[in-house]
Amino acid sequence: SRLRTLRDHIRWAVSRFHAESLFFGHGTDNAWDEARQLVLGALHLPYEIADSYLDCRLEEDESALLRELLRRRIEERVPVAYLLGEAWFCGMPFVVDERVLVPRSPIAELIQQQFSPWLPQEPARILDLCTGSGCIGIACAHAFPDAEVVLADLSFEALEVANLNIERHGLEERVFTVQGDGFEGLPGQRFDLIVSNPPYVDAEDFADMPAEYQHEPELGLACGNDGLDLVRRMLAEAADHLTEKGLLIVEVGNSQVHVEELYPEVDFLWLDFEHGGHGVFLLSAKQC
Ligand code: GLN
Repeated sequence: SRLRTLRDHIRWAVSRFHAESLFFGHGTDNAWDEARQLVLGALHLPYEIADSYLDCRLEEDESALLRELLRRRIEERVPVAYLLGEAWFCGMPFVVDERVLVPRSPIAELIQQQFSPWLPQEPARILDLCTGSGCIGIACAHAFPDAEVVLADLSFEALEVANLNIERHGLEERVFTVQGDGFEGLPGQRFDLIVSNPPYVDAEDFADMPAEYQHEPELGLACGNDGLDLVRRMLAEAADHLTEKGLLIVEVGNSQVHVEELYPEVDFLWLDFEHGGHGVFLLSAKQC
């Protein structure tokens, strides 16, 4: 059976994705969306293409390209974002490769509502700690067009990608990268908003993650035995880096330790992870 049209390729991909029980969750949550994203993205066609276009016949070289990408997705378990070199976050495209995690975070919802009702006023200075691709900080820069944003990360490689994204979004004037471990590169600096999706997966969960995660930098996922090494440090040091009404927002989740029990005085906000699992958000003003 020959694959001729876009629809043929998508359908074939869906059946193979199901047969192989692929993991979804690096941007999509089902086989159809994932196949559509890969097939259309690879041919630089918009995701929202009219349904009738799916019956367009492909050239032989287009079909060969798709088959190769689908093979890498299925056999090598490479996430779609890495195959395309691009991922979407908060409705915006970001450059992505294996130097950074695939953008995904329920923090996106908070950004889209400008952290209302938690943020007391428009933040003048924002820090995205453990920024990776820069997606959270850059989305914040779009949400707050007057703010200055710092993107910090331990990984030089990640910051190379973050810089590509600053350029891609034309934000060189007010978004900057800083290298360092935690707050290390930011002595004496204070922010009105610190947002972070740090590595927080505990050793046990990390060992059980689907093969797709093995293409991601371990530095962005795992963090000590209980996953909370960095979260603890951030909480201990945040008070020195927040302005008086400053707000710290940290994503936590895959840890057997219940962070609420660790920090009973801090406010928690529970958000559903789009793709199952548990997402805990820790919101704190000056309590930390
Ligand atoms: N469970 C999270 C995810 O894979 C872990 C990410 C993280 O450590 N920041 O999306």
